Amino acid sequence: MADYHCPNYNDCKFVNSNIIVANTEKKENYLSDYCQKEKNHWSQCKRYITKASLNFCPDFVLPDTPLTPEEIIDKFDNEIF
Ligand code: SF4
Repeated sequence: MADYHCPNYNDCKFVNSNIIVANTEKKENYLSDYCQKEKNHWSQCKRYITKASLNFCPDFVLPDTPLTPEEIIDKFDNEIF
């Protein structure tokens, strides 16, 4: 594994399952655009930002989700309750 992979790579549900994105081509694009991209591009991933901010990341969050972590937790709470 190249050393520019996201620090969450080994544990990220997006990478390690097809639950978050089932479409293989779409998933591969996200992997190359965020998870495996040089210059720490993973730091721009909304799943990375959300986990760093909230200490978890809901399944509906994609690397390019436009919501803020605050909006994500609100949406998560509204889906649960
Ligand atoms: S870049 Fe985002 S989706 Fe990829 S491994 Fe890191 S947190 Fe997960």
